[in-house]
This record gives sequence, C-alpha cells and structure tokens, in this order.
Amino acid sequence: MAAKKLQSIRGIHDGLPAEVRLWQKVESAARKVFSTYAFSEVRLPILEPTELFVRSIGEATDIVSKEMYAFTDQGNDNICLRPEGTAGSVRAYLQGGLTRSGTQRWFYIGPMFRRERPQKGRLRQFQQIGVEMFGANGPLEDAEVLAMAHNFLSELGISGLQLEVNSLGCSACRPGYREALLTYLNERSDKLCETCVERVDKNPMRVLDCKETSCQAELNDAPEMVNHLCEGCETHFSGLKVGLHALNVPYKINARIVRGLDYYNRTAFEIVTDQLGSQGTVLAGGRYDGLVTELGGPATSAIGFAAGLERLGMLLNETDAALVDVAVVALGEEVISYSMQQAAQLRGEGFSVVHCGGGSAKRQFKVVDREGARFVVIIGEEEMQQARVTLKDMATGDQQQLSVDKLTAVLGKSSKAETI
Ligand code: ATP
Ligand code: MG
Repeated sequence: MAAKKLQSIRGIHDGLPAEVRLWQKVESAARKVFSTYAFSEVRLPILEPTELFVRSIGEATDIVSKEMYAFTDQGNDNICLRPEGTAGSVRAYLQGGLTRSGTQRWFYIGPMFRRERPQKGRLRQFQQIGVEMFGANGPLEDAEVLAMAHNFLSELGISGLQLEVNSLGCSACRPGYREALLTYLNERSDKLCETCVERVDKNPMRVLDCKETSCQAELNDAPEMVNHLCEGCETHFSGLKVGLHALNVPYKINARIVRGLDYYNRTAFEIVTDQLGSQGTVLAGGRYDGLVTELGGPATSAIGFAAGLERLGMLLNETDAALVDVAVVALGEEVISYSMQQAAQLRGEGFSVVHCGGGSAKRQFKVVDREGARFVVIIGEEEMQQARVTLKDMATGDQQQLSVDKLTAVLGKSSKAETI
C-alpha cells in the first residue's frame, strides 16, 4: 500500500519555482527603488516574545486576541510567530541603541503569521515587504515614503493601482471626531452588522472599514476625520498633499481608511487594486508616532508600510518573470558540440539558457514550449559552417538568420533579462 502523502497546514502554501520567480521580481523592484531612497535592509527574528505584540498591537485586536501562533516553549517562555513587522522593528531599534543615531530607514522582507480564515489572497503564512522610518516627523517625509511606495509598484508595471490617503488626526483632535462618529453610528446601530455593533463600543473607527456592503451603505454621510483635524494635523495633511503634487504622485482621499490600532496617527494610506476581490489592498501603512514610547523608548516619530508579496505576485503575469531567455535547438549530431559552445557563450553573457539536448526537431520544440523560452536559437550544419544561427522570437513568431557575433546584441536589446 502506498504511504499516505502529507499535506501542508491549511492556509500555508509552498513557494514553488514559478511563484517564487514572481516574488523575486517584486523583491528586486523593492530593493532597487528603496535603495534610491537610502533605505537599508534589516533581518529581524521571526520568533518574538508574545508580550511585544500584546503591548503594541493590543489585546482588543483580532490579531492578538485570536490570530497569533503563540505558545510556551520548553523553557516556559511565551513566544510567538510574528504577525507583522513593525513591533519587532521598534524593539530592534530600541535594543540596538539607535535612538540617537539619526533617521533610520529600514526595510525587510519575510514571512508573517496570522491564523485568519484562508481565502484567495489571504493566507496564514504570508510574506511582507515592509518599510519603517524612525525619526521623521514632517509631511515632506510622509510624501517621500508614499512616493517610494508608489514608485516601487510602478517599477513592477502593474496597472490599475490606486493610492488612497487619509489623516487619522492625533490625540488632540481624534476624541472630538470619535464623539461625532459615535452619535452618527448610534443612530443607525440597528442597521449595522453584529461585529460593527461591538465595534461601536470598542473602536468605532473600525466600523468605517467594515467589508459588509450593508454597513458601507450606512456610512455614506458619516462624519469624516479629515473635516475634524486640529490645526497641527491640518497643516501636516496639507503638506502631504502639496508634497504628493510636487512629486507627481496621483492619489485620492479615502476617509474610510483607518488603521485599527491606537498608536497610528495622522497619515494613513493604502494602495488598492480592483483585481483581487475583497483582498484588494496590496500595500498599507501609516504614521505611528506613539509606538516607540509605548514600547519604552523616547518620543520618536515614525512612519512605515507593508506590502503583501503574494497579493503582488498574483498581479504579475507568469510570463513577466519567464526564466528562460534562450533555448538552443541543435539539428544533427555534427552540431552538438558547437551548439553547446554557443549555449555556454550566451550564459557567459548573462542570458539564462537551456540546451534542448539534440535529437529530433519535434522533441526539441516540445522542450522549447514547456520551458516557455522567449527565444530559440536553431543551429544546423549549414548555420554552423557559416557561423550563423537562426533566431526565432517566440513572442512574435519572427525568424531571422544572423551571424553569431550579432546574436548577443540582438538578444540583449529585446530580452526580458534586461528589464528584470
Ligand atoms: P487586510 O485588510 O487585507 O486584512 P491588513 O490591514 O490586515 O489587510 P496589514 O496588516 O496592514 O494588512 O498588512 C499589510 C499588507 O499585508 C496587506 O495590505 C496585504 O497585502 C498583506 N496581508 C495582510 N494579511 C494578509 C494575509 N492574511 N494573507 C496575505 N497577505 C496579507
Ligand atoms: Mg487583516
């Protein structure tokens, strides 16, 4: 009897080659763009003390109350798999003694864990590309961080993305707004979903981003934080908008954006797509000036965002990250050695190449198809003698004969390898 095949845990997926290639494309766009803004990579622990998230995200949130993979280890310590990267970054910033080292600009790429209900674009282990900037308090910095997020996604060439911004105010103006919102919600509490009825008591602003259409319909005339900002927050928000205009970053104001957690203030933003159903937020972030003190450090302003790698990968075409630039087809025993040398030469020039292994043309062209090669270099005896090859562009079907010394130049101009 065959042994039973084990399955991965529900909501936890394997990254197989085709998908990892897409993720790597996203990662290299992030590295490229972030480095132009002088952000440096950090590699932080996946296991953290559970208390870190209880203190930062808070016990009242879904993440901490029911989604964390938390356990007691063999030494009786309460540890958990990190559900997000901001709290760990603040911990590391403080533990590393960097509070007097000037502005810190960090990014990280790695897995996060939340025991949510698995759906398309919603996993229990997923990856985030996150950014945190410590010691940056002005709207200029906010505009630059938002522009960086925008440039990162533009670099990937994904269409139909929209940047949405909001201001969450601060401890001076939010309480007044909260009252106005409460009055509005209480008048309609019989029309809200069950979860929102609870939210009205605990955290009324969370009602604003309820995904139920019936709740959204009730919110049409709800008061908006942007109309209740104190002078300082108003100036900050205008400064952000001026910055975004100056940098030519298109945006829309969305008064429904809230970050569920108390430590968020002022700028909050999301980049959304309509291509992923209700999992349409691919990147989200905001300013969190209160968190560093919450975790025991000196007053430090900070802003950050995180993008979901799997969701971004889903927006890329598989062919965007085609692995094979060139497949080499050798027609006849006599040309095998020569064709292998041509393959080696192309690899030396940095192209990714598979040699189809000789044999019948039919079999080799099957290999070409399966590999999804962008170009085929076909070498027969006549080509070898004339130091020429036949080059076929699989995207257009065009075929041309050209001399070997022109090959790399022609490939280089049109190959995907150039753009990745
Ligand atoms: P959502 O509203 O989709 O639940 P969120 O507000 O919980 O997102 P953040 O905690 O701000 O998201 O995380 C930033 C990004 O990480 C999200 O915009 C999304 O792209 C991604 N992300 C969050 N949770 C998941 C998940 N369970 N599976 C896959 N990606 C996720
Ligand atoms: Mg969530």
